[in-house]
Amino acid sequence: MTSVDVLSSGGTAQSTPDQAELVDRTIAKGFALLMFPKELEARFLREGASKRFLLMVIAGLASIVLFAGVIIADFLLMRSVVPLALFIRGVVYGPAIIVGLLVVRRLNKPELNEWLVAAAGVWATLLQSVIILQGTGPWAVARVVELNIIVVYTCALAHFWPAVALAALVAMMHTFIVMTMPDGTGILASTTTLLMVTSIAFVLYGNYKLEHDERMAFLLDAREQALHAELTAAHERLTHMATTDALTNLANRRYFEGFLSECWQRAQAQRRVLSVMVLDVDYFKLYNDLYGHQAGDRCLVGVAQALTSSIRRPGDLVARWGGEEFVIVMMDTDAEAAAAAGERIREAVAQLDLVHQGSRCAPRVTVSGGCATARPDAHSQWAQLVQMADDALYRAKADGRNRIVVTSDGAMPSMKAEAV
Ligand code: GH3
Ligand code: MG
Ligand code: MG
Repeated sequence: MTSVDVLSSGGTAQSTPDQAELVDRTIAKGFALLMFPKELEARFLREGASKRFLLMVIAGLASIVLFAGVIIADFLLMRSVVPLALFIRGVVYGPAIIVGLLVVRRLNKPELNEWLVAAAGVWATLLQSVIILQGTGPWAVARVVELNIIVVYTCALAHFWPAVALAALVAMMHTFIVMTMPDGTGILASTTTLLMVTSIAFVLYGNYKLEHDERMAFLLDAREQALHAELTAAHERLTHMATTDALTNLANRRYFEGFLSECWQRAQAQRRVLSVMVLDVDYFKLYNDLYGHQAGDRCLVGVAQALTSSIRRPGDLVARWGGEEFVIVMMDTDAEAAAAAGERIREAVAQLDLVHQGSRCAPRVTVSGGCATARPDAHSQWAQLVQMADDALYRAKADGRNRIVVTSDGAMPSMKAEAV
């Protein structure tokens, strides 16, 4: 049976305000150290993980080509180290990077990935330093500037804190090289050191700004998502309230009319048959008078449940029409099948066995029903079918109540009530 959708996104609606509040608090407080509260940090890394992994693969593979390409400098500047450099650049660096990328993919731990980016930079720094330290001659120390390329390249990709760690290591390596390698004048040591210090300062400043912007964009996006989820949930709640009867939780009259109108159009277009049944609790005013309004309400809830459990097909709709009247729409249901459904309903209500001493047709609560069936043509209106069902209900009442009258295309055969 079709019922009005109950708010299905309750979970989202509950978790969203917490998330939204956390995001707002983080924006207000700032994140100068480029760290979010734990839960948000995990989400930030998780959501960016696949994009960053792709970047890592591209940058990792490109670094293999670049690192190998520096063999040209080895060849031009320090021929004596070429065999060692060939081995390091061709065989040692690349496989480790590829293994690193495979490990990153396997581990699937975004927080670790960021440090592995820096680890690749450390690996390149160590290998490059080994090659430089093998150099001889007055200009060998000048090649320490190649460490600048590593620091700029890695810091352009890595997150800030891993980039800081890498920069610190490169700075130490730089100091070690310029202190151990011969540099007669001291000019190379001072100029390369100046270059290294400024490179690190600029690249880390740029890296900080970029990550700060990236994090801010994430927060704004998260806030927008949270607001959107809140709006969707509020909209669903409103739709639910606008289309559901609060007492019985059945669809209300507004929903019923929209639903029937759609069924009617489908039936018109495809020449299909449909039935509408109107049901009314017998002598309900007297029930209220005898047992009180609250007992009357409980009775209506019971009747609603009996109707719902008697209507088995998923495409059918049970709705509260108003007061103690209910209405059922049954697509592809002819008069005979509708009459059978009506009988099932009448029996189900009787079996509730709600004592009703004021009723003049049975000692318990009963319903009367009018049912109309039609195969609508292009010009007919659904309201006509409802009117026919209502007329049939009037007949059922007039004929003694506790019965279902079925009418089809104007004919109104009365179904005799069985004793309850
Ligand atoms: P009949 O057999 O001809 O249908 O008689 P009836 O008394 O059922 O019909 P009538 O239209 O005279 O009375 C309907 C009553 O239903 C009147 C009203 O107080 C009661 N009613 C309507 N809506 C509610 C409701 O939500 N809760 C309760 N408890 N009673 C309701
Ligand atoms: Mg009534
Ligand atoms: Mg009534």
